[in-house]
Amino acid sequence: MSTPLGLDPDELVACVACGLCLPHCPTYRVTNLEIASPRGRIAAMRAVEQGVVPLDGVFVRAMEECVQCRGCEAACPSGVPFGHLMEGARAALASQPIADARRSPLARRATERVALSWVLTRHRVLLTLTWLLWAAQHVHLVPRRLGVPRLRAADLRTPLTAPSGDATADAWLFTGCVMDAWQRGVHRAALEVLGAVGVRASRPGPGGDCCGALHVHSGRRDEARKLARRVIDSMPGTAPIVVDAAGCGAALRDYGHLLGTEEAAAFAARVRDFSEYAVSQGAAEHLVATGERVVVQDPCHLRHVQKAHPAVRDLLGRAYRLAETADDGLCCGAGGAYSVQQPALAQSIRARKAGALREAGADADTVVCSANPGCTFHLAAAGFVVEHPAELAARALSREPVSRPT
Ligand code: SF4
Ligand code: SF4
Repeated sequence: MSTPLGLDPDELVACVACGLCLPHCPTYRVTNLEIASPRGRIAAMRAVEQGVVPLDGVFVRAMEECVQCRGCEAACPSGVPFGHLMEGARAALASQPIADARRSPLARRATERVALSWVLTRHRVLLTLTWLLWAAQHVHLVPRRLGVPRLRAADLRTPLTAPSGDATADAWLFTGCVMDAWQRGVHRAALEVLGAVGVRASRPGPGGDCCGALHVHSGRRDEARKLARRVIDSMPGTAPIVVDAAGCGAALRDYGHLLGTEEAAAFAARVRDFSEYAVSQGAAEHLVATGERVVVQDPCHLRHVQKAHPAVRDLLGRAYRLAETADDGLCCGAGGAYSVQQPALAQSIRARKAGALREAGADADTVVCSANPGCTFHLAAAGFVVEHPAELAARALSREPVSRPT
């Protein structure tokens, strides 16, 4: 029997309403509202599935206000797969018209559609728009609060040195869409670190750009599946796939679930976060102590989803004096496009994170380390100096030659 959201009933009933996830939910922490908590959202999904409440604007808002950080999932003792439930609910909402004034504004949904379907998926269009953005930034037309990183013409003009589509390489470096346009310097740093330990990396072949993470978040599963197939085809063979954007890494690691094929599951099993892979190749031993203090911020998709956050400490611990925040990895409010879609909530959530970062010592001279572009832009917009673990590792590289572990 079909239900309004088509969610897995076993996943839905797994929640025993214990509330242990509530302190780990950023939207609950800033609103204190049950409907803005994981438990409240699951109860709302269940009520809609059972036909107890209508699928109306109140429900839509409860779903749209979720950052999809999955802090609740990591904290849940009952193993409720909240991420999959929320993705399923979003997909159901995206596929049906909901007439209610409380739904997100039409203009915002139209912009989202253009960005997701016409810009992120067409890399040349994205790069052209990035040049326009660079020009606007150059004449101070882009306010800092928008969080757009400082774009550099030299970065945009100069392709990465790694070959493209080389199936004989030791590893693939997934370059993505926004990362390649706005943070190519991070890829350069990642290649430098990998090169220093003797790893020959290749960029993906054609189609290896947008991974579809934002499409999954927005409920556009069919588009995400098309992009996933493209990405899989762009990196054939068995070599590891190294990803230096936590959100993309989490999406690639979920391709088995998204596509439901053995090929996709095998591809997902090859995915490694940059820090994880760099440590496995001995990069940490090749860094020298800088004496610099760095405050570590764990992107949710690195910590709660990939659970690869310890590798950042393993990679950088020898080179930097690392400081931790005392907020148990609470989300910063970036959440893919969340900071654009829900600006007020995103800013309230960020204010909590900013307090935790400052308490840990982040200031104008102390770098915050973050492995995800969304978090980087969101925190930079609040005045923090943010660098990627790959950039920090590249800065601390010893110039002595090393041999690779066998
Ligand atoms: S999602 Fe998990 S932690 Fe949260 S209320 Fe339900 S069972 Fe408890
Ligand atoms: S995914 Fe994040 S924002 Fe959404 S309910 Fe879970 S903890 Fe809260």
